Amino acid sequence: MEYTKETPVGTGTDNRFLNALRQSGLRLERGPTRILQINLGRRCNQTCRHCHVEAGPARREVMQWPLMERLIGLASHPTITTVDLTGGAPEMNPHYRSLVEGLSGLGREIITRCNLTVLMEPGFEWLPDFYSRHGLRIVASLPCYGPDNVNRQRGEGVFEKSIAALRLLNSRGYGIQGHPGGLPLDLVYNPGGAFLPGSQSSLEADYRERLGTDHGVSFSSLLTITNIPIGRFGASLNRAGGMEEYLRLLEHSFNPETLPALMCRDTLSVGWDGRLYDCDFNQMLELELGGGKPRLDGSDLDLNQLAAVGIRTGTHCLGCTAGAGSSCGGSLA
Ligand code: SF4
Ligand code: SF4
Repeated sequence: MEYTKETPVGTGTDNRFLNALRQSGLRLERGPTRILQINLGRRCNQTCRHCHVEAGPARREVMQWPLMERLIGLASHPTITTVDLTGGAPEMNPHYRSLVEGLSGLGREIITRCNLTVLMEPGFEWLPDFYSRHGLRIVASLPCYGPDNVNRQRGEGVFEKSIAALRLLNSRGYGIQGHPGGLPLDLVYNPGGAFLPGSQSSLEADYRERLGTDHGVSFSSLLTITNIPIGRFGASLNRAGGMEEYLRLLEHSFNPETLPALMCRDTLSVGWDGRLYDCDFNQMLELELGGGKPRLDGSDLDLNQLAAVGIRTGTHCLGCTAGAGSSCGGSLA
């Protein structure tokens, strides 16, 4: 079975997520939109094996400033509590600083997704102080507490650079419990292959012990995320002939208790070019919110009316509902 961006299977009658939903007798519906997730582009200093947006240094797609100005306006809508900046490496967008400065005065929580190694890139030395000055919540990928798994998944030398970056962030008060500024630094774990993450709380305890003892590094919380079978991970499953087996694992692990907390219920995801989606994964598959209507540049986008627009699902959604569930904020149930 092929499962690629060009031919996403499972969005019609072959939607295995919808079948699982029907069997559970439940429906998936939007509530009020609380999170505005903005994808600043595909540019990244890394090319990780499991990247679902297929980011890398050669990618040229980046969000432009006029679009950002519109999004700062949208973020002031009364139901929005959180703005979540993602990429690629969002900091590599040339307008990243101006966007954060524009959002800062709105009183919303601002999450910045960080790959850690970007802090060690020449020209990005300003980042730790900038993060702390604006009180950003950092959500950083670190798929293991040891070098082998991290370097295999994210590239040679990434673990060592990530630890150096974590030390820099700790030195600014990030992830230090009891720090007067209380700056949050969450780490993200995703499995190194076609299996579900273990328990979030026991993995967090392991991470805390090993990173603290071996490297003197601390963090706030660990978030576990399931690999969604799209992008580079989907392509590697296809190459290895493991797609169907992984989909079966997700299907058999369907957990209806994850449904109330699925991120598509309260998130509006905006692509680098301004197109709108229910989530970052649908963005990768180009499954536009409402089939392309409403649009950010049209007069028909009303966040109060978004609940009436159905969520577009596909077989890939089984990745969010398997086991303890998965979202950009970690496990769900
Ligand atoms: S997973 Fe994150 S750090 Fe890795 S290539 Fe993708 S965007 Fe970059
Ligand atoms: S992939 Fe997106 S639309 Fe599907 S369940 Fe997950 S968050 Fe919702």
